[in-house]
Amino acid sequence: MSSFDFAGRHIGPTPGDQAVMLARLGYPELDALIDAAVPSGIRAPEELRLPEPVSETEAAAELAALAARNVVAVPMIGLGYHPAITPAVIRRNVLESPAWYTAYTPYQPEISQGRLEALLNFQTMVGDLTGLPTANASLLDEATAVAEAVMVMRRAGRSRSARLLLDSDSLPQTIEVVRTRAASAGIEVELVDLDAGLPEGDFFGLVAAYPGCSGEVRDLRPSIDAAHRRGALATVSADPLALTLLVPPGEMGADVAVGSTQRFGVPLFYGGPHAAYIAVADGLERHLPGRLVGVSVDSAGNPAYRLALQTREQHIRRDRATSNICTAQVLLAVVASMYAVYHGPEGLTAIAERVHGHTARLAGRLRRAGLEVRNRHHFDTLVVRVPGRADEVHAAAAARGLRLREIGPDEVGVSVSEITTPAHLDLVAEAFGAGSGPAVAGDGIPAGLRRTSAFLRHPVFRDHHSETAMLRYLRRLSDRDFALDRGMIPLGSCTMKLNATAEMEPISLPGFAELHPFAPAADATGYAELIDRLESWLAEVTGYARVSFQPNAGSQGELAGLLAIRAHHRAQGQPGRDVCLIPASAHGTNAASAVLAGLRVVVVATAEDGTVDLADLEAKCRQYGDVLAAAMVTYPSTHGVYEQGITRLCDLVHAYGGQVYIDGANLNALLGVARPGSFGGDVSHLNLHKTFCIPHGGGGPGVGPVAVAAHLAPYLPSHGQHPDPARRAGIGPVSAAPYGSAGILPIPWAYIRMMGGEGLTAATKAAVLSANYVARELSADFPVLYAGNGGLVAHECVLDLRGLTARTGVTVEDVAKRLVDHGFHAPTMSFPVPGTLMVEPTESENLRELDRFIRAMKAIRAEIDEVAAGAYTAAESPLRRAPHTAATLADDHWDRPYPRSRGGFPAGVTPDKYWPPVGRVDQAYGDRNLVCSCPPPAAFHDPSEGEAA
Ligand SMILES: *Cc1c(COP(=O)(O)O)cnc(C)c1O
Repeated sequence: MSSFDFAGRHIGPTPGDQAVMLARLGYPELDALIDAAVPSGIRAPEELRLPEPVSETEAAAELAALAARNVVAVPMIGLGYHPAITPAVIRRNVLESPAWYTAYTPYQPEISQGRLEALLNFQTMVGDLTGLPTANASLLDEATAVAEAVMVMRRAGRSRSARLLLDSDSLPQTIEVVRTRAASAGIEVELVDLDAGLPEGDFFGLVAAYPGCSGEVRDLRPSIDAAHRRGALATVSADPLALTLLVPPGEMGADVAVGSTQRFGVPLFYGGPHAAYIAVADGLERHLPGRLVGVSVDSAGNPAYRLALQTREQHIRRDRATSNICTAQVLLAVVASMYAVYHGPEGLTAIAERVHGHTARLAGRLRRAGLEVRNRHHFDTLVVRVPGRADEVHAAAAARGLRLREIGPDEVGVSVSEITTPAHLDLVAEAFGAGSGPAVAGDGIPAGLRRTSAFLRHPVFRDHHSETAMLRYLRRLSDRDFALDRGMIPLGSCTMKLNATAEMEPISLPGFAELHPFAPAADATGYAELIDRLESWLAEVTGYARVSFQPNAGSQGELAGLLAIRAHHRAQGQPGRDVCLIPASAHGTNAASAVLAGLRVVVVATAEDGTVDLADLEAKCRQYGDVLAAAMVTYPSTHGVYEQGITRLCDLVHAYGGQVYIDGANLNALLGVARPGSFGGDVSHLNLHKTFCIPHGGGGPGVGPVAVAAHLAPYLPSHGQHPDPARRAGIGPVSAAPYGSAGILPIPWAYIRMMGGEGLTAATKAAVLSANYVARELSADFPVLYAGNGGLVAHECVLDLRGLTARTGVTVEDVAKRLVDHGFHAPTMSFPVPGTLMVEPTESENLRELDRFIRAMKAIRAEIDEVAAGAYTAAESPLRRAPHTAATLADDHWDRPYPRSRGGFPAGVTPDKYWPPVGRVDQAYGDRNLVCSCPPPAAFHDPSEGEAA
C-alpha cells in the first residue's frame, strides 16, 4: 500500500507520523500496539478475503457500469414514491455539498444554527401543510412513521383497548410494517374499509390514508369524529403535495399526521433515503418520537435554535421507551424543506394542480374510451379495470418506457408526478388502447375537500425564489455550521471519519438515483449485483452468514436483529424466552429496541474497571434461565475498551440458551482485527454511517444493516414487494422499502472496493493508534477513565472531568463550548458516563489536526487551573462565557477578566477562525417555552437589513 493509493489518502497519519506516535506510546511498530491492545482470544487468524483494491477512477467506472445496468424508465407506479425534480441549486449545494452532508446531529446548537434553521423550516412546512401545530424534524420513512404514530396514540390516548383500526386502503408496505411492529407490542391490527363505516367494539386508534393507495380521496371527517366519540385517537397518513389542494388533516380533526416528503425534490433512490414527517395536535407534543427543533435564547438574549426536550432523546427513555429513533433523515428533510422554500406556496400549489389536472385529463380520456376507472375521486392516482388484460397493458406501457403499478390480472394503477408530461399521458392512453386527443377533465377532489386555508406564509417561503437568493441562503446557513469540512469532529461512538468525494459522487448517477423501489426486478440488476457484492463483503468482515440492508438506521437494525432472535426462540419451541440482558452503559437505543421487540430489559452491572460485571451477568443468566432470550453488548464496549471477558460472556449466555447480540456501532475498532460473528456473536447491526463512510448528514440518513449467523438467516426482514420472491414471506419488514435506503449503498461499496482488506485493516489500526496517542498525550491533564490490556484503549477514550468539576465548577459543557473557540466540534458529552468527554479521532485525522486538538485541550486545562488558582471564578472564566461570538468581541463594553484576544482567539489570531453565530444557548428556557416553528422575522432583528418588517 502506498500513500498514493486511496487507503493512503483516507488514512490521515502517514507512515512517518505513525512512527512518531508509536514512539510516544513506546511501541516499536503498529502491530505490537494492536497485539497488546486486542485480546488474543478474539483475534482473527487470517487476513480479510476481499478483492484487491482499485483506484478512485476505477471504482467510479465500476459503479457507473453497475448504474448503467439499472433501467431508468418513467415510473408511474406510485405506492408512496414519485419521481420528483431536485432543483439543481439544491442538489449541488445541499445533497452534494460536504458543508451539509458531513455535519453531525445538532446536539451542539451553537455550531449548528444553519441546519437547525433548515429543520425548523421543515417543521413549519409540515405543520402548515398538515394543519397541526407541532411537527418533528423527520422520521425514517412513511411506513415506520405510521408505526410511530400508532405508538403515540397508544400511549397518549385514554382507551385501554389494544385494537388498532387500519385503513385497508393504506399502502401495502405500511400495512406490513405496522403488523410487524404491532405483533411485538401486543397490538391487534384490524383492516377496515372506511366507506363501510367503523366496526363495533373498542379500539385505541384509527389510521386513515389520504389519499388512499387506490388514489381515492375520502372525506375523513366522519371516521375521525366516530373515532373520537368512541374514545380513540386518529392518525392520517397524507401526501404533502396533495395537502396543498386538500383540506388538511388538522382541519378534519386528526390528532396525528404522518407521511413522506420524498416527492419534495428527493430522488427515488430505489426506496430511500427519504424524510418522513410526523405532526401532532396540541397536547401531544411531548409524546413525539425523534428530534424536535425549538427556539430558545442565547447568552446575549438573542433567539437561537436548538433541539428541544433533548435530554429525553439522549436516553430514549431506555426501558420505558416507545420509540428507538436516533439517526433520522436530516439531510433529506433539509432538501425537502428547501424545495418548499424555493417553490413557495404558489409554486407547490402549481405543481400539485398540474399533477391533479393531468390525472383528471387521463381519467377523462380513459373513460371516454370505455374503460372503467375505479376511483370516484383522485389526486394523482387512478386504478383502471382491464379484465384479464393487465399483462398486455403493462407490456404495452413498458414498450413505451413507462412502468405502471401491478395490482392483479384485472386492474392497473397509474400515478402522475411532477415529471409527467402530456406526451407521457399520450403513451399511457396508448398502452390502455385508448385513443389520443383531448378529453373533458372533471375535478378529482370531492366537494367540500378543497383546501381554503393558507399555508407557508412565513417570509422564508417567499424570499428565496430566485436562484441567486436561494444560493445565498444555502451558503449563509451552511457557513453558520461546523462540519467535517472545517475540522475534526472527535465524537466518541459516532466515528466521524472521511466521507470521500469519490464515495459520494455515484449516488447522483441516474441509474442509482432514479429507480423506483417497486420497479420490476429486471430493471434493477445493477442494484442487485451491488447489493449482493456488498452483502458478501460485509459477511466476510464480520464473520456472519447473511446481511439484510433493510434497516435504515442502527436502531432499526437492532430491532430487526432482536426480532430474529425472538423468531428463532419461537421456532425452537421456546416462545417464553423474553428477557434481554443489557449492560448499564449501553447506548439508549439498545434498551429501547428491546422493548419494541417485546423483550423485558434486565440491566447488568458495570464492574469497577468499566467492564461488564461477569459475576452479575452469570447471576442474571442463572436467575432468568429458561426465559433468557439474549444479551446485548457493544464491542469494543461503549467505554472504548477491548474487554477481555467478551468470549466468556458469549459462552455464558449461550450456556443458558440465550443469543448474543453484539452492537456493531464500534466496528471501526474491529475491521480486519476481529470478527464479531467468529468470537461469539449471533447477530450484529453495523452502522454504515459510522464505520463505512456514509456521511452523517446532520443527523441522517443512515443505514443499519443487520448481520446474522446462519441459524438466524431465516428470520431476517422480509418484504411483500421484494424483488426476490424468496424473500417476500417471513417475519415481515422493518422499513418501507425492500432494501431500505438503497440509494446510498454505493458509498460503503466504494469504500470497501477502494480500501481492500489490507486498507480496512490499516484503517482500524490507525484509528486505534490515534485514540491511544490522544489518550496518552492528554492523560496528565484529563484522566483517561478506562483502559484495557497494557493500559491501552481501543478506538476512543473517555476523559474524566468529574474531579476537575468538583474542584472548580468547570463542567464538561464548558469544555465543549470552549473547544468551539478553538475551532473544534466537542467530543461526545456525558455518554456513556456523566461528567466525561469521549474522544474518537478516527483514522482520517492527520497528526497535525490531532496535535492541534491536544494543544486546545491543554490550553483549556490551563484555564481550568486558573479558575482553581482563583484568577477568576468559573462563571467569569472564558470557559463558561464560551463560545465567543464576533458580536461579543466587537462590543465596545468589555468587562471580562481576560483579554478579548484570548476570548476569541485562544490559539492565536488566525484568518481561518470559525465564528459561532450565537453564544451559549439556554436549553432550559427553550423547554419551558416550546416554540417549534419559524418565529416571525422580527425576532431576529439584523441591523444590517434595516428595520425588520
Ligand atoms: C450510533 C449508535 C447506535 C444507534 O445508531 P442509529 O443509526 O443512530 O440508530 C447504537 N449503538 C451505538 C453504540 C451507537 O454508537
